[in-house]
Amino acid sequence: MLDASRRWRHEGKSIGLVPTMGALHAGHLSLVDAARRENDVVVASAFVNPIQFGPGEDFERYPRDPDHDAALFARAEVDAVYRPSTQAMYPSGASTRVHVSGVSEPLEGEARPGHFEGVATVVTKLFAAVEPDRAYFGQKDAQQAAVVKRLVSDLDLPVEIRIVPTVREPDGLALSSRNVYLTPDERRGAVALSSGLRAAAEAYAAGERRHNVLRAALLSRLDAEPLAQVEYAEIVDPETFLAPGRLAVLAVRFGKTRLIDNHDLGKAFPG
Ligand code: AMP
Repeated sequence: MLDASRRWRHEGKSIGLVPTMGALHAGHLSLVDAARRENDVVVASAFVNPIQFGPGEDFERYPRDPDHDAALFARAEVDAVYRPSTQAMYPSGASTRVHVSGVSEPLEGEARPGHFEGVATVVTKLFAAVEPDRAYFGQKDAQQAAVVKRLVSDLDLPVEIRIVPTVREPDGLALSSRNVYLTPDERRGAVALSSGLRAAAEAYAAGERRHNVLRAALLSRLDAEPLAQVEYAEIVDPETFLAPGRLAVLAVRFGKTRLIDNHDLGKAFPG
């Protein structure tokens, strides 16, 4: 990977990296499109990173379809797909982890201990393998994007982090590789995340600023959805991920499936 990247760099080409875990959907492809617009060469990685999954999480059953991914990447005119083996990424004896403190601690950090350490470690390794000028992350995983920005800033990594808006289904559900786990009933109920975000954004647009009232709007649809188990629903600062703030963030379980979503209440909810 590094040889190919350095050849491109030597030819004066700029490189955009799109890290993914495969199981591609239109959200991933919108990251590729953004990278395509801003770089001469687009590299996508597809690696289901074992160290960002906790014990009892869905690492084993995480959807994998490398052939389908390859076809979609080819159609999106990705120049190279980097698909390292687990052994290549974490050979026996590998014992270094990248830990970002602060922003990685609340919410997702609390719900998924070790998750962001796994993310920060793999992202650092991907940057070392590709040496991209720019790397593309989705707003869908807002806290991850904030952790990566912190990492890049703190370690002076020579890469520009670009955040791409969340791609949604027509009913508002954020696209996610994990949506395939939902039963038809759960899929119908899952619209409660985006309707809560919309309700909170509408309240904010109408001038509401009281944290508890905005939070109640965020929860209104979820409270009425019997299949939804809310893990957290908060309105936080988009850099620290601590309340209070303007970024509404949600983690909700439907049966075995855990969904996350977020929206900046200062912006109109799309659709
Ligand atoms: P994943 O394969 O789930 O690790 O996601 C790879 C990248 O795609 C991450 O930067 C995600 O934030 C981004 N992504 C996932 N879902 C969406 C979506 N619905 N819209 C935009 N970006 C997304």
